[in-house]
Amino acid sequence: MSGPAPTTTATRFRYPYVIGWTGEAQGPPLKWVPRCGGLRLSYVVPHRDDVRHGVLRLRQGQNRAGRPDFRTVNTLRQWRAMDKRLCQVCARSAVDRETGRIWWLLSNDGCGGDGYTNAPPTCRACIPEAISQCSHLRRNAAVFTVGDCSPYGVRADLFVPYLPPLVPFERNAVVRFDDYDMHHALARELLVRLHDVQPAVTEGDAAA
Ligand SMILES: [Zn+2]
Repeated sequence: MSGPAPTTTATRFRYPYVIGWTGEAQGPPLKWVPRCGGLRLSYVVPHRDDVRHGVLRLRQGQNRAGRPDFRTVNTLRQWRAMDKRLCQVCARSAVDRETGRIWWLLSNDGCGGDGYTNAPPTCRACIPEAISQCSHLRRNAAVFTVGDCSPYGVRADLFVPYLPPLVPFERNAVVRFDDYDMHHALARELLVRLHDVQPAVTEGDAAA
């Protein structure tokens, strides 16, 4: 807690906008509250922006305290990037000014096969950097442009109603808005469905 936070400006390396930082964890207590037809999950002390798309979101700090953790994303930053079509690296718009299409970097080994993803878009300028930073993407990256995206579901921890909401019965489950009772979920990431996905012309194809 007391150590100095690493600065991002002192190095050429940029920490991607959406990744989580160890000092941002909060974990405020949860409770069940009555709703029409059952119970819904809530924080004991609710905040105005806890719920989005009808689901309670993991509450975290936004101060990038502690250390960057590339295995996690910060829920609110991931959500914001999806909602506003922002680049997951630099947080600027990932919408191409000329075409209006969204630049999207996906892994070509199945991610996106069902038409949904948990990875926010990546703007054109940041695509080479994003690929170079990730060994998986170096082998499997595929660049697309996307016509539009829409909320599909969440990756969430799931709780059993009426039991004290202390430990989820399932962690990091993928649940769709259409077929799960979102009142019992604590969302970690927003999943979006991609529409009109087209392979992008990359630098190597630039002759065209
Ligand atoms: Zn970017």
